[in-house]
Amino acid sequence: MIFSQLPFDNQLVIQLPADQESGNFSRQVENAAYSFVNPQKTQQAAVVSINDQLALQFGFSQADIDHEKIAAVLTGNILLAGMQPYAMNYGGHQFGHWAGQLGDGRAINLGQLNTPDDGLQTLQLKGAGQTPYSRNADGLAVLRSSVREYLCSEAMFHLGIATTRALSLCLTGDRVVRDMFYDGHPKEELGAVVCRVSPSFLRFGSFQLPAVRGDNALLKQLVDFSINQNFPHLGAPSKEVYIAWLKEISEKTCQLMVDWMRVGFVHGVMNTDNMSIISETIDYGPYGWIDAFDLNWTPNTTDAQGKRYCFGAQAEIAQWNLFQLANALYPLIEDAEPLNKILQDYATLYEQLWQEMMQAKLGLDTLHAESDAKLFMQLEKLLSEQEVDMTIFYRLLATMPEHESQWQEHFSASFYQFPHLESDYLTGFINWLTAYQQRLNLNKSDAQQRKKRMNAVNPKFVLRNYLAQQAIEKAESGDYSMIEQLLQVLQKPYDEQVEFEHFANKRPDWAKDKAGCSMLSCSS
Ligand code: AMP
Ligand code: MG
Repeated sequence: MIFSQLPFDNQLVIQLPADQESGNFSRQVENAAYSFVNPQKTQQAAVVSINDQLALQFGFSQADIDHEKIAAVLTGNILLAGMQPYAMNYGGHQFGHWAGQLGDGRAINLGQLNTPDDGLQTLQLKGAGQTPYSRNADGLAVLRSSVREYLCSEAMFHLGIATTRALSLCLTGDRVVRDMFYDGHPKEELGAVVCRVSPSFLRFGSFQLPAVRGDNALLKQLVDFSINQNFPHLGAPSKEVYIAWLKEISEKTCQLMVDWMRVGFVHGVMNTDNMSIISETIDYGPYGWIDAFDLNWTPNTTDAQGKRYCFGAQAEIAQWNLFQLANALYPLIEDAEPLNKILQDYATLYEQLWQEMMQAKLGLDTLHAESDAKLFMQLEKLLSEQEVDMTIFYRLLATMPEHESQWQEHFSASFYQFPHLESDYLTGFINWLTAYQQRLNLNKSDAQQRKKRMNAVNPKFVLRNYLAQQAIEKAESGDYSMIEQLLQVLQKPYDEQVEFEHFANKRPDWAKDKAGCSMLSCSS
């Protein structure tokens, strides 16, 4: 077998303490950041899709990508020289409650690849079998959830939003039983593995677990490792640097939340074990994209009652999660004041970044803090009162006609209930557009420039929930064409791409309450 000599440099394994027990059985793992564990052998690995561009960028050769054994490598059936598979140990708050040790129950890291331009990138297989952290679950993933992760992380990347990336999607050849809605209807599904990559898979929960256990030595090792690997600009670890580290994490997490709000992404399970320490979007589970603008919407059926992780709550939840991280760091800093300050600054920064984001979405040259805040709030209210498609609305706003007489017609494509809109609502809508038009008079840039700038922040194409579901249903019957099509469209989400107009349409009626399109569970 000839594969390129991919240069692995497993710094995490070198620098952090490993679990001394080598057996693969569920257990509490103390004093260790990870456990060595081999991926499970599968029946018949087969490629569904490989992200060629990314693979080449990371130093794979075209011959590697075309190699008959590539699926076996990307599902963990064959280990390449330099790979040292391990599962990470971490804890987390789930839905607001401390859940103790969680860890990589269905993820196995192959090692850190030294890439030509992107530094060390950890390759991680999701769904490659049980680990010491699997508790009583199987460590596997199904095609349905793997397609969702594969497509969405790439969509997010091309939207310009921090995210883990996906190198490949493969079938394992095994069948996996899942009860999709935990309602006593288990079904056999196709097993799959996504190979995802990131400069760091450390989570807030990676630091919480040793802190809760009072293991300050491991806590310090983890923080120092994170700083040295992913925040080297902060300098050599010290109390001051720990504070600077948390500050940077807080600011980047804040930016991530604003980015999610800008494009209408709802993560769905913002538990602290799903919060990346380098502020990437991570763990694509029951996420969803806003069709009709609704700050209370959550795609996650597990969260349907509490709505803890609904669209409009994300920024606040991120702050709550940062508070948990700050708590975990306290033993290394022993001074609450700078930690509190960071958390307070988060709220101020979010407000500022949110305003700037809205300014950009509306194409305003400048920001007039108070009067514009009113304009933004009024708009959110209007978008919420009727079912208005967020993505379509903002694209139409960029080309709003000058004359009021044309407005209804112009925006009709963004309303789910058009033409059945109450006259009061329409009046409010027209009033807002009038105020917006007047506000635009203060712009120095012309309409053409404004359109260009707005379309650079308001995507035309997002991974609408029903599109992902259609791609899944086709893939389950062996047709991967829609996965490839979506990948292609979502690579240029801000471009018009008229040939793909149908992917920009609003959600069809049949998809409104269909499982997988608007309702998802954590079952994957
Ligand atoms: P999630 O909510 O998907 O981030 O998962 C929460 C925890 O459950 C993590 O520790 C996962 O590794 C674990 N987990 C989820 N699904 C499985 C599975 N099928 N097998 C083993 N562990 C799992
Ligand atoms: Mg997770």
